[in-house]
Amino acid sequence: MSETPETIVRKGSCLCGDISYAIHGNPLFSVYCHCTQCQRTDGAAFVSAMHYPSSAFSWTYAADKEPAVEPIKGCTLYRCKSCRSCAATQMSDNQNWALRSTQLERDENGKIKNWDGVKPSGHIFYGTRVVDVADDLPKWEGFPGSKRIG
Ligand SMILES: [Zn+2]
Ligand SMILES: [Zn+2]
Repeated sequence: MSETPETIVRKGSCLCGDISYAIHGNPLFSVYCHCTQCQRTDGAAFVSAMHYPSSAFSWTYAADKEPAVEPIKGCTLYRCKSCRSCAATQMSDNQNWALRSTQLERDENGKIKNWDGVKPSGHIFYGTRVVDVADDLPKWEGFPGSKRIG
């Protein structure tokens, strides 16, 4: 049976692999997020974030592991207790999960498996960017569909 965008399962994990998850199908949207919370929690200029409905997400870590749960404004961070990577973020309002596409499984060449379906298609919260990105993707002030600013 061949995989379709609906049946594909992607696996992601933190740096050390203690905390892992599986996501079913393609995301609601996949973007580069320039919000100040991503900048602060990840220590990065921007984060490649895939948003999934809660029904498409499941934890897959071993029974003797569990992430640290850290509520912040508007969402909850799930951070690995060993390597401290943020493995997943759940939005408080709609319960959607925001997951870093850079944490997905790689092939033998270091490329993310099934990248096409999760490749970012825009930049969100671009108003608080710390670096200009000269690509052709749409740039939104907030979430996709908000005011275009690039
Ligand atoms: Zn870890
Ligand atoms: Zn963000």
